[in-house]
Amino acid sequence: MKKHQTIYRAALDKWGEEAQFDQAVEECAELIIALKHFKRNRANRQQIIDELADVALMVGQLSYMLGDDLVDRAIEAKIDKLKCLLATDAWDGRP
Ligand SMILES: [Mg+2]
Repeated sequence: MKKHQTIYRAALDKWGEEAQFDQAVEECAELIIALKHFKRNRANRQQIIDELADVALMVGQLSYMLGDDLVDRAIEAKIDKLKCLLATDAWDGRP
């Protein structure tokens, strides 16, 4: 998550925190729409990849803003939980 910190700092300085949250919401919405279109053959794989890249960048931006180390720790905790769920016979498919 610590990659691209210089560009995240510059974006934050130029547009501010609130704009970054708004942009993250917008990029997530675009990915949702692309996935819905993909399911109905109205979007191709490259469009999904492009929207994933936008969301990944905004996840990086927000992680930078909120604390990369905190996000990394939360991810590790969720991965550990997922490992436990996958090892359980009673797993219903939801993380
Ligand atoms: Mg986008």
